[in-house]
Amino acid sequence: MDAPVNHSDYEELAAGFALCALEPDEEQAFQRHLEGCPACKASMREFEEVTASLAFATPVVEPPASLRAAVARTTRRLPRAASRRRARTRARRHGRTALHPAGRPRP
Ligand SMILES: [Zn+2]
Repeated sequence: MDAPVNHSDYEELAAGFALCALEPDEEQAFQRHLEGCPACKASMREFEEVTASLAFATPVVEPPASLRAAVARTTRRLPRAASRRRARTRARRHGRTALHPAGRPRP
């Protein structure tokens, strides 16, 4: 979005601000405007109330028991897989195989 020019531009930014969805420059412009505009402060409070209520708008669903086990299995594997991948990448960059740890001269 171009820099806000008139008040309606700021009104459009209020919802995005409440949702933390603005670009950094838009957020800064809106915050500066907000300090001196009671109308936008009121709009923003209304948007914040609506966005907060969205968190409770859907029914709570109990996940199946199998989901916990599946997530646990997956997360146990991830750090090792990522660590091996990083070691291979590092080794390739330095011309070593994964069997020759960093810092050791290549035979
Ligand atoms: Zn305003």
